[in-house]
Amino acid sequence: MSGLNLAQQEAVNYLHGPCLVLAGAGSGKTRVITHKIARLIQAGLEAKRIAAITFTNKAAAEMRERAKSLVGREAKDVLICTFHALGVRMMRQDGSVLGLKPQFSILDSDDVTGILKDAGGTTDAATARQWQWTISAWKNAGLNAAQAEAQAKDDLERGTARIMARYEERLAAYQSVDFDDLIGLPLKLLRDFPEVREKWQKQLGHVLVDEYQDTNATQYELLKLLVGERGRFTAVGDDDQSIYGWRGATLDNLRKLPQDYPDLKVVKLEQNYRSTSAILRAANNVIQPNPKLFPKTLFSELGEGEPVRVVDCDNEEHEAERMVARIQSIRANGLGKDWKDFAVLYRANHQARVFEQALRKAQIPYKVSGGQSFFDRAEIRDLCAWLRLWVNNDDDPAFLRAVTTPKRGIGHQTLQSLGVFASQYKLSLFEALFSSSLSSVLNARAVGSLHEFGRYVNDLEFRARHTVGAEDARTFIADWLKDIGYEKHLYDGEDNEKVAAARWTNVLEFCDWMAARCGGEIDDASGATIASERKNLLEVAQTISLLSTISEREKDQNVVTLSTLHASKGLEWPHVVLAGCVEGMLPFKPEDADGAVASDSFAARLQEERRLMYVGITRAQRSLAVSWSRKRKKGRELVAAQPSRFIAEMALDKTTVKEDPREKLKALRAEFARKSADAAAAAAAGPQ
Ligand code: ATP
Ligand code: MG
Repeated sequence: MSGLNLAQQEAVNYLHGPCLVLAGAGSGKTRVITHKIARLIQAGLEAKRIAAITFTNKAAAEMRERAKSLVGREAKDVLICTFHALGVRMMRQDGSVLGLKPQFSILDSDDVTGILKDAGGTTDAATARQWQWTISAWKNAGLNAAQAEAQAKDDLERGTARIMARYEERLAAYQSVDFDDLIGLPLKLLRDFPEVREKWQKQLGHVLVDEYQDTNATQYELLKLLVGERGRFTAVGDDDQSIYGWRGATLDNLRKLPQDYPDLKVVKLEQNYRSTSAILRAANNVIQPNPKLFPKTLFSELGEGEPVRVVDCDNEEHEAERMVARIQSIRANGLGKDWKDFAVLYRANHQARVFEQALRKAQIPYKVSGGQSFFDRAEIRDLCAWLRLWVNNDDDPAFLRAVTTPKRGIGHQTLQSLGVFASQYKLSLFEALFSSSLSSVLNARAVGSLHEFGRYVNDLEFRARHTVGAEDARTFIADWLKDIGYEKHLYDGEDNEKVAAARWTNVLEFCDWMAARCGGEIDDASGATIASERKNLLEVAQTISLLSTISEREKDQNVVTLSTLHASKGLEWPHVVLAGCVEGMLPFKPEDADGAVASDSFAARLQEERRLMYVGITRAQRSLAVSWSRKRKKGRELVAAQPSRFIAEMALDKTTVKEDPREKLKALRAEFARKSADAAAAAAAGPQ
């Protein structure tokens, strides 16, 4: 019981009935779950009869670690997983009663789009995704195709319901399930097959659910059937952090609990152990306008702490630079020592790119969670393979990628023979290609194409070395992409033109960024380009290819986190930057984005956006900066932007809100230079 306050102990010690812990962010809800696992084992419940359900696989892994440190080896028998993983387990064990083989496959989102295209007779992926969205919503509301058709409001919905029927037939024929089935089918199992239900109810002695506010209607029913009448479960949640309404999560699940379980024990936690008072106050102010489901007060004893900062910037690149300067200045001040102490959070995946670029430029290791890193995209990795090959001809993986992307008539067989030859003579593939005895293993045509490729790479390398300045670099890169036919390669490899176009845009953006690097560094103070720092393209390629090893360094995880707000739920960092806080992004307005659909009114969604802001603010432990820029990209255009209304709602103290981290950093650098000059002078003077 050590490390728990009285209210937490109360929740942990209540073992024999339904329990709801309802409390604000950082109040130790997740801690209650891990300690309660330990308590249940201590009270004699077998570890394998305990299930703890988390929101993500990552959260499950973390909880397993914590449980292990509390109870030791026994913790490995506790079933700690997401609702979906629990569903998989149930289906593997008992899915046969629904006609599913134990080795059924689980379809990813792209598979589903493909099947729907087929079932609905279209080649347009956007239409298929629209159906996918609707069908998923129906499934999450517990409707099958017939029920969906019966309640359809118009012809469009009726049509979609009929496509759903064909889609379901195909899934059955393929022995496959989609993501929503992993909840829907187990629910069906428990509802329609009493012997299966009894088995699971007997099997599970206690079920614990974290992030309960983000469960949906089918998950609620599933939980209810799993725990049965005895209702031995512990749910922990915070209505102010419900941010998955758009995916069917419903706060009704919180409202229904006291009705469905009249003997429900409700525990409230009021002390926040995560954040300073300054941060907590901003969080409380932001969430305050939302209607209250349950009254809550939250306080912290960690002291007032640093004031929350608002950082206003000219544009997104400027914002990214200031963010990097802030991280560096906090480190220079000794307030955060590890990279992992920092997180940059934003509303949408595509916002990561400018921050990634700025971090790479400053050689700061980072990871992108909740979305793909810009530098991990296939098209960017393709180009980086070429860059790596210019810089280091002996980089075999880069060689193999470049020689086959785009395809240039050098086949698998040829490369295999080249590989065998190279390893026999202990050469790199590139060296082997120019070996005079290569003709003993390959015919003249194959050798000819390899030579041609080798000469081309040498030529590129030579020209890159002599390309200096942004304009020349742009011309060179454009020629190169045209030579290898990269744009055509993208369009040929992708059915959906829109996707191909988006990938080509990424390529152009990347190349532009690279070319700009050849033009010299930008001076932070004046914004002018420092010509003396112009680099040739090979040098630029070198730094970029060096940086691609950052992903290797990620393994030790001492890296800055870039994350969407959604993916940051439940986590905490000493220093947090909430970036891109402009109207239209946060709160998000779908009409400002491509392809998004506004399904409900803005007023209703505003409440969820406010909760998202609350989640973001409450991730910070010691320092929080909220940044926004006066211009933002909307599609391909730059438009004027207003600061998010949430910044005003945070009601920060007006005198302390603005800062320019670059000024601070400059002062620190000057201070450092002065100190080292003093030290050098003292050393030169020698002992008196
Ligand atoms: P969220 O709503 O963001 O999911 P939470 O309510 O689950 O937050 P936890 O993550 O469990 O909160 O706890 C927040 C922080 O406070 C963690 O660092 C945790 O270790 C610490 N903490 C929780 N309870 C206590 C306690 N009684 N004493 C000291 N530290 C605590
Ligand atoms: Mg938590």
